[in-house]
Amino acid sequence: KLVGMEVPEEERRVDIPDIFVRHPHEICKLYGYMIIFGMWPTLMLVLHNAYLMADLLGCLHRHCIPQERFWFFWCLIRLVMVIPRPFWWLRARDAYESALRAPSPQEITRRLVQTQRTWWVRMNHRFGTIFTVWLMLSLVLCYLDLFSCTFSKALWTHCLMNLANQLLQRLVSVLLLLYFTSSEMNRGLSEHLLNQHSEVIVFEESKAAATLGERTMECSICFMKYEKGDQIRRIRCSHHYHKRCIDPWLVQYRNRCPLCNYVLGSQEPSGPASPGAG
Ligand SMILES: [Zn+2]
Ligand SMILES: [Zn+2]
Repeated sequence: KLVGMEVPEEERRVDIPDIFVRHPHEICKLYGYMIIFGMWPTLMLVLHNAYLMADLLGCLHRHCIPQERFWFFWCLIRLVMVIPRPFWWLRARDAYESALRAPSPQEITRRLVQTQRTWWVRMNHRFGTIFTVWLMLSLVLCYLDLFSCTFSKALWTHCLMNLANQLLQRLVSVLLLLYFTSSEMNRGLSEHLLNQHSEVIVFEESKAAATLGERTMECSICFMKYEKGDQIRRIRCSHHYHKRCIDPWLVQYRNRCPLCNYVLGSQEPSGPASPGAG
C-alpha cells in the first residue's frame, strides 16, 4: 500500500532528492546499515527508560509526589512510542536490501523513492520527530527541575545519553556515506538490460561506415583496430568498443559510457543521442 499514489507523476518526480539519483547504491546500503546500527543502542536506551520507570514505580508506592507521577507518565509516552518502530525498521531494511538487487541504478532509485513513500517509513519518520521533541522537552524540564527531585537527575542523564546516541548516528552515517561513495561497488547494469539498451555488431570492414559511423575504427579501451568478426558494442551516445572490453565496465562497474558519461538504462531517450550515430 502506497501513500500519495494520487499525485501526478511529474509532480512526484520533483521531490526526489538529488542524492537518490546520483548515489542510489550508496543510499540503499547506508539506510540498511544505519537501521541495524541504530537499533541496538536505541533498544538499550529503551530498556534503561523502562528501568527508570520501574524504580519510580517503587517510590510511588511508598510516598506520592505529584512531580514523580508526572515523570512516570512522561516516560510511559516514550516507551509506548517506541513499540511499533522495530517492525517498521526491519521492514524498511528488507525493502532497501531488495532494492539493492535491482538490475539498474535507475530501478534502485525508483524502488528507493517508493520505499520512502510507504506508510511505515512515513510513520517511522513522524515518530522519530515526536521523539526528538520529547527529548528536547525532557532536557528543558529536567534542567529547570534539576535539584528538586532525584528522578529528574536520573532522567537528565538518560536524555543526555539519547542525545549522544543521536549525534553519534548522524556522524556515523556521514562517515559511512563518504566511505561508500569512494569505495568500489557494483553500480552496473544487468546483462539483460545492457542488451536491451545497446547494440552488438559483428565487425565487417565493408559495412563499418554504415554501422559505426565515420569515426576511427578502433576500441577506445584497448586501442586495437577492429578486425573482421570482432563483436562491437555500440552505445546510443554513438561510442563503440569491443564487447569484451566494455561489458565488464558496464555490468560490474558503472552504467555509463566511459568516454562521455552517457547513462545507459530505462530513462534514456529512445533515439540516438547525437547526430551521425549511424
Ligand atoms: Zn577493446
Ligand atoms: Zn559515449
